[in-house]
Amino acid sequence: MDEIRIFSPATIANVSCGFDVLGLCLDSVGDEMVVTKSAEKGIRIKQIIGAGLPLAAEKNVAGVAALALTEALDPEYGFEITIYKNIKAGSGIGSSAASAAGAVFAINHLLGSPLSNKELVPFAMQGEKLASGSAHADNVAPALLGGFTLIRSYEPLDIIKIDAPNELYATVIHPQIELKTMDARSVLRENITLKKATIQCGNIAGLISGLYTNDYDLIGRSLHDELVEPVRYILIPKFKEIKAAAMKAGALGGGISGSGPSVFALSRGVETAQKAAQAMAAVLEGTGIPFELHVSPINPTGIKIL
Ligand code: ADP
Repeated sequence: MDEIRIFSPATIANVSCGFDVLGLCLDSVGDEMVVTKSAEKGIRIKQIIGAGLPLAAEKNVAGVAALALTEALDPEYGFEITIYKNIKAGSGIGSSAASAAGAVFAINHLLGSPLSNKELVPFAMQGEKLASGSAHADNVAPALLGGFTLIRSYEPLDIIKIDAPNELYATVIHPQIELKTMDARSVLRENITLKKATIQCGNIAGLISGLYTNDYDLIGRSLHDELVEPVRYILIPKFKEIKAAAMKAGALGGGISGSGPSVFALSRGVETAQKAAQAMAAVLEGTGIPFELHVSPINPTGIKIL
């Protein structure tokens, strides 16, 4: 095989009480990438359609992740990458992660899959380091593995995949405002109280239990973020109203997707997820803020070969 075409999905990191440890994979929104073997060694980004991103491999997350992988595997040939970008950069649904994870997935496949998708995570994380300064895994892990992923630890890296209940759907609204990751980080507090930490632990444990036991009510009761949402929501226009509208429409819960500005809700069944979408959209309509809306099942397997 000399060429591969893949779908590389958008992802939701943080997932409310899962700040910095939990992510989930979407199915109905993502980029496409075509990766081709070339006789000349090295990584070349041939074209990016749909976004004005750097083509130099060392300045593009796809290139950086690909270079990290090829340095480790040292193949006899090089690779050319074309990216069809559908996920807007800076949206909070893992735009950079889709490119980084997609690049390493495609190259690994063209090399006969010497590594498992889990083993590809650290290479994709190198791309994330370029995008945000920190080699985090909470978007690249769900993109590569699908479902929900729990990052139990970074040192050593310990990632646990959790299958999502079948009827779980995500709704995402992306208000198209610029929210710099640096600003979203700067509002966070260094210290938290023991009381808040305890509540957060209870909720993340409840959420994980609910995912394993298909207990939608428990998932809903657990989707509360004590630590980040209360200080970060002010950066997102109408956050409280958007979340309240989703809940009123029947969603189980929701929160800020990644570091924003996208807001997500989780619902039982596609109908409720669509009602939540309409309700969330109604809040932003008339504000003059353009937005994008996505309703998606949880993608069980991650990146797909097309
Ligand atoms: P999101 O908020 O959706 O997760 P990110 O913050 O992950 O988006 O990534 C956006 C940053 O990464 C931007 O600064 C963008 O210029 C940079 N970047 C470099 N290469 C890519 C790429 N191939 N795809 C998306 N973003 C890229």
